[in-house]
Amino acid sequence: MSKHAILSASGAHRWMNCTPSARLELEFDESESEAAAEGTAAHALAEHKLRRALKMRSRKPISKYDCDEMDAHTDAYVDFVLETIAQIKLTCNDPLVLIEQRLDFSRYVPDGFGTGDCVIIGDGTLHVIDFKYGQGVLVNAKDNPQMKLYALGTLELFDGIYDISTVAMTIFQPRRENVSTFTVFKESLYQWAEETLIPTAQLAFKGEGEYAPGEHCQFCRAAVKCRARAEAKLKLAAFEFALPPLLSDEEIGEVLNLIGDLTSWANEIIAYATDAAVNHGKEWPGFKVVEGRSVRKYTDEKAVAEAAKAAGYRDIYRESLITITEMEKLMGKSRFNEILGGLVIKPPGKPTLVPVTDKRPAMSTSNAKNEFLEV
Ligand code: SF4
Repeated sequence: MSKHAILSASGAHRWMNCTPSARLELEFDESESEAAAEGTAAHALAEHKLRRALKMRSRKPISKYDCDEMDAHTDAYVDFVLETIAQIKLTCNDPLVLIEQRLDFSRYVPDGFGTGDCVIIGDGTLHVIDFKYGQGVLVNAKDNPQMKLYALGTLELFDGIYDISTVAMTIFQPRRENVSTFTVFKESLYQWAEETLIPTAQLAFKGEGEYAPGEHCQFCRAAVKCRARAEAKLKLAAFEFALPPLLSDEEIGEVLNLIGDLTSWANEIIAYATDAAVNHGKEWPGFKVVEGRSVRKYTDEKAVAEAAKAAGYRDIYRESLITITEMEKLMGKSRFNEILGGLVIKPPGKPTLVPVTDKRPAMSTSNAKNEFLEV
């Protein structure tokens, strides 16, 4: 059996929104990003620490990503799981705790399986806890299909053996200080599985349905070459034909809405085309590969220092601090706050125009000269 299911739990948000994406993705190689490799290492360390905390045998994994920061975040995950178990034990003597449990949800999703980081059953509740080491995207547990699939896989094993009435699904994402829990009655999960999951998964497995671009495209292997996504991005080109000669405020608002997405899509296309041309000899019509700009550099720093000193120059060295991020990584978050918290400020950011849906509060611009007042 392949390591990854066609309809994986981690890709469920994508293939449930865009059903043909699951089959289209198979045309592209699966390459592991640096962030994914770091996440795998963090999971292995978290699993080891949790096993040891629960008095199970485990050998500490070693990886090139080991650092104080990863140590602190995996400790926080273990503390969270232990607190959850302690809470359950207040009313249930002997909860079932499973770590890295293989979960089969193929009753609902063809060939569907996955691995639950930590599953706990006790006091009528099934707890599914997922450790997320990534920090790029804040992950919410509410209606999260990946978590629901893990929960259904666990119910497949234990419903009927244990008394379960509710399911609590938690995302623990320490690098975003995010702990998100979504609780549902078991019956509503089964209802979702019958009414929504099964028909959608069947379409997805057959590669049928409509291509539906959206924010879920960001993790799709087909994203760069997907025609549906390109067409959605290129909606912007329609403005070239807009009449009359000046865009209205509404039209500029619409352009602003599209431009962030359009820019990141354009950058992805540039990265893909550049890699194909530079590393695989691909020729794109109307383009060529040239040498980019470069900056001068010393061939031998030691020899440079000696030559400069011999010529009588003394003031040739510069000492500088490592960056805040590097310092925080070096010390770990809590030691960093303890030692340097009072010596770090966050200056106000440059005023930026963002959609009203952005979580940050609006800045007052009342002092700005308003050159756009209607006359
Ligand atoms: S890029 Fe988006 S629209 Fe295209 S197949 Fe992937 S998820 Fe669907």
